[in-house]
Amino acid sequence: MPYGIYLAAVLLVAYALIIWQAVLLSRCRFWCKSCGRLFALPWRRLLFRQHVQDEWWLVCPHCGTKGWCRAKRRKEES
Ligand SMILES: [Zn+2]
Repeated sequence: MPYGIYLAAVLLVAYALIIWQAVLLSRCRFWCKSCGRLFALPWRRLLFRQHVQDEWWLVCPHCGTKGWCRAKRRKEES
Protein backbone atom coordinates (compact mmCIF):
# COMPACT_ATOMS: atom_id res chain seq x y z
CA MET A 1 0.00 0.00 0.00
CA PRO A 2 1.24 3.53 -0.71
CA TYR A 3 2.14 4.73 2.76
CA GLY A 4 2.62 8.29 1.47
CA ILE A 5 -1.12 8.73 0.96
CA TYR A 6 -1.80 8.15 4.66
CA LEU A 7 0.95 10.54 5.62
CA ALA A 8 -0.46 13.20 3.27
CA ALA A 9 -3.96 12.69 4.72
CA VAL A 10 -2.69 13.09 8.28
CA LEU A 11 -0.82 16.26 7.33
CA LEU A 12 -3.90 17.62 5.55
CA VAL A 13 -6.08 17.03 8.61
CA ALA A 14 -3.48 18.64 10.87
CA TYR A 15 -3.29 21.66 8.56
CA ALA A 16 -7.10 21.92 8.40
CA LEU A 17 -7.23 21.95 12.22
CA ILE A 18 -4.63 24.73 12.39
CA ILE A 19 -6.65 26.84 9.93
CA TRP A 20 -9.91 26.06 11.74
CA GLN A 21 -8.40 27.21 15.03
CA ALA A 22 -7.28 30.46 13.37
CA VAL A 23 -10.76 31.01 11.86
CA LEU A 24 -12.37 30.52 15.29
CA LEU A 25 -9.84 32.88 16.80
CA SER A 26 -10.54 35.56 14.17
CA ARG A 27 -14.06 35.78 15.64
CA CYS A 28 -12.56 36.78 18.98
CA ARG A 29 -11.24 40.17 19.91
CA PHE A 30 -7.88 40.77 21.48
CA TRP A 31 -7.24 43.15 24.29
CA CYS A 32 -4.07 45.25 24.15
CA LYS A 33 -2.53 45.73 27.58
CA SER A 34 -0.60 48.75 26.39
CA CYS A 35 -3.45 50.99 25.15
CA GLY A 36 -6.40 49.05 26.57
CA ARG A 37 -8.25 48.80 23.26
CA LEU A 38 -9.83 45.79 21.63
CA PHE A 39 -8.99 44.68 18.12
CA ALA A 40 -9.74 41.82 15.76
CA LEU A 41 -7.39 40.24 13.24
CA PRO A 42 -8.08 38.25 10.06
CA TRP A 43 -7.45 34.53 10.43
CA ARG A 44 -4.50 34.60 8.02
CA ARG A 45 -2.63 36.78 10.51
CA LEU A 46 -3.42 34.40 13.35
CA LEU A 47 -1.74 31.36 11.83
CA PHE A 48 1.25 29.95 13.72
CA ARG A 49 1.09 32.51 16.51
CA GLN A 50 2.66 31.82 19.86
CA HIS A 51 0.16 31.58 22.67
CA VAL A 52 -0.21 30.59 26.30
CA GLN A 53 -3.82 29.69 27.06
CA ASP A 54 -5.85 32.86 26.27
CA GLU A 55 -2.85 35.12 25.75
CA TRP A 56 -1.53 35.60 22.23
CA TRP A 57 1.69 37.21 21.07
CA LEU A 58 0.44 39.89 18.65
CA VAL A 59 1.09 43.37 17.36
CA CYS A 60 -1.62 45.86 18.33
CA PRO A 61 -2.97 47.72 15.24
CA HIS A 62 -3.82 50.77 17.38
CA CYS A 63 -0.56 51.53 19.15
CA GLY A 64 1.83 49.13 17.38
CA THR A 65 2.96 47.50 20.60
CA LYS A 66 4.07 43.90 20.36
CA GLY A 67 3.02 41.90 23.35
CA TRP A 68 0.71 39.38 24.96
CA CYS A 69 -2.92 40.12 24.15
CA ARG A 70 -5.79 38.39 25.90
CA ALA A 71 -8.41 36.85 23.59
CA LYS A 72 -12.01 37.70 24.40
CA ARG A 73 -15.04 36.08 22.90
CA ARG A 74 -17.81 38.37 21.65
CA LYS A 75 -20.12 37.34 24.49
CA GLU A 76 -17.64 38.44 27.14
CA GLU A 77 -17.66 42.01 25.89
CA SER A 78 -19.88 44.71 27.30
ZN1 LIG B 1 -2.45 48.88 21.74
